[in-house]
Amino acid sequence: EVRVRFPPSPTGYLHIGGARTALYNWLFARQHGGKLVLRIEDTDEERSTQAAIDGIISGLRWLNLDWDEGPYFQTDFTREHMAAARRLLERGLAYKCFCTKEELEAKRQRALAEKRNPGYDGHCRHLSPEEIARLEADGRPCVIRFRVPERSGNLFYDDQVLGRIERAYADIEDFVIVRSNGQPLYLLCNVVDDIRDRITHIIRGQDHMTNTTRQVLLYEALGAPLPVFAHIPLTLDVQKQKISKRKHGEIVAVQFYEERGFLPWALCNFLALLGWNPGTGQEYFTREEMLAAFSLDRINRANAVFNYQPGDAKFFTDPKLIAMNEHYLRTLDPEELARLVQPVLEKAGIWQEDFAAGGARRQWYLDTLVLTRDRFHTLNDFASLGRAYFADDFAIDEKTLQKRVLKEPRLKNWLPELSGRLAALARFSGEAAEQLCRAMEEEQGVKPGTIMNAMRTLLTGQAAGPAMPDLLHTLGQSRICRRLAHVDQ
Ligand code: GLU
Repeated sequence: EVRVRFPPSPTGYLHIGGARTALYNWLFARQHGGKLVLRIEDTDEERSTQAAIDGIISGLRWLNLDWDEGPYFQTDFTREHMAAARRLLERGLAYKCFCTKEELEAKRQRALAEKRNPGYDGHCRHLSPEEIARLEADGRPCVIRFRVPERSGNLFYDDQVLGRIERAYADIEDFVIVRSNGQPLYLLCNVVDDIRDRITHIIRGQDHMTNTTRQVLLYEALGAPLPVFAHIPLTLDVQKQKISKRKHGEIVAVQFYEERGFLPWALCNFLALLGWNPGTGQEYFTREEMLAAFSLDRINRANAVFNYQPGDAKFFTDPKLIAMNEHYLRTLDPEELARLVQPVLEKAGIWQEDFAAGGARRQWYLDTLVLTRDRFHTLNDFASLGRAYFADDFAIDEKTLQKRVLKEPRLKNWLPELSGRLAALARFSGEAAEQLCRAMEEEQGVKPGTIMNAMRTLLTGQAAGPAMPDLLHTLGQSRICRRLAHVDQ
């Protein structure tokens, strides 16, 4: 059985890179009928926060990346981590090291000056039990180091993305697995947890590769089978800097996209292609298509670039992500779209309960979403650019108002007059309403569109939108008449 994990360190929000790692693991688990384990790696107690834990979990939920086990918390297994270290110590696979920070630093400097390997020199590797007892009796603090086997040749593992990875045993220093305060290091905890959780495939960023070499040794020492490794490329910004919470702020946070009204699957589709390619040129995938197409061996080796445009108000993020969002916004099943737009309207205070029930109002709600979505970029646009369809207190774009309404003073008379004629229509329809408007333009001898454009402006607050008959039909007779009755409010 395939078992994968997503083990975020809760030191900040879920960002683009982390979400992509979660997505790849999720895809791999789901396509193999396997299990995805969520593990919160909270051993760094100073930097871990509850807010980050909550944020990561809500981000995964929003993306619809569901997990089968967990969340487990790494700090709940501290005893196991210590027991593993003790076991390694007892078997001579690890040893106590009493070298002080100052001694180590001095040696490192010397080695660097003499152009020798600056790694740990193995000073405490062969301390006798008596020496150890004496140092301990003196109250000297010690760390526990892993004893890298004295082997010639190379350690290797077969990475699913990068192929065979080799590293000379001689180049791996005896690394610390327990700090002098007794705290086991992340490197060890991570392996102990993956062994306990019976993880078969580790899909994580290339930034963990130096850990992997050492962890391969830990698996061997702990007598556990080696999982399959797949190291995925890093996510970089346009300046080829690694994406991070610290450097990039909210633009790389998953929550940012949720708040801006992005569709979760649009972000998933985008993230999937950020470092993976199907080899066919296909860009848009349904969930099912993605589950069929995804494979570890088509993950790119080269780093991926998240091409966001800092400081650009409209295209604040990767244009490809915006294009994908628009595509899904415009093609999504109306019921699904309705479900996603509801919280947006609720938040704006313009949701109406009868949109949720069956019947004519529900149908009106669905039709209106479908009618207006062609010009929208995000879900939030339904509540901002599209507010006039759902509420009477909408803003009118200032420039458009000037150009289309206020510039022609006679509109102040025409529009209320038109409003009266529309109200008198016995059989209201979008077409009939448009007809009346055109007739009035002819009657007044003004350029076609003069009254129509003013009407659109006052009805929707926008310069452009759906075809006039559709718009009029959707807004309905009484609202139209009301909005045209007073031009200068
Ligand atoms: N907690 C690690 C991180 O957030 C995960 C490392 C791993 O995937 O093994 O980067």
